[in-house]
Amino acid sequence: MKIICIGRNYVDHIEELANEKPKDPVVFIKPDSAVLPKEQDFYIPEFSNEIHYEVEVLIKIKKVGKHINEKFAHTYYDEIGLGLDFTARDLQSELKEKGLPWEKAKGFDGSAVIGKWVDKKHYKDLNNLNFSLTRNGNIVQQGNTGLMLWGIDSLISYVSKFFMLKKGDIIFTGTPAGVGKISPNDYLSGTLEGEELFTVKIK
Ligand code: ZN
Repeated sequence: MKIICIGRNYVDHIEELANEKPKDPVVFIKPDSAVLPKEQDFYIPEFSNEIHYEVEVLIKIKKVGKHINEKFAHTYYDEIGLGLDFTARDLQSELKEKGLPWEKAKGFDGSAVIGKWVDKKHYKDLNNLNFSLTRNGNIVQQGNTGLMLWGIDSLISYVSKFFMLKKGDIIFTGTPAGVGKISPNDYLSGTLEGEELFTVKIK
């Protein structure tokens, strides 16, 4: 199983990090060891002083596909989720500056929080899903899938040109504005269309 992440998919988040608007989706991968085991707390790693939360809508791939036509992309997933792409922002900035790959800042152990999965039939319109993240009870990020530069089907089509998608692969579709630093004892909770899909305690 692999995790394919999309960066810079919401204009407001591109602006807050002063990044350039990409011509194509920004894609990176987290290894399967990045998945935070269910019910486990997240321990801030010693190599970073600035771990950021990024709440993102997730897609679980249900069958093998390569060069998937956007028209048929919807037949490759049944389940939608919500998760966190934990990012060592200090390390990422250092790597970006040097033009080096981001993996150490994005793919470390526990950096992928994956919440409960929901059948996509549960939702009327996948291009109009509201989601949010609270930190210690306060809303810190709010998004709607309608604001993505590239929608779900378009992302599946695009990434499948480079990476064969396999059953169980997960796509992180990018984060809206409001990313910020976590601290020990924080309590994060992610909600999709009014339903809480994950909670994480920070240690
Ligand atoms: Zn992200």
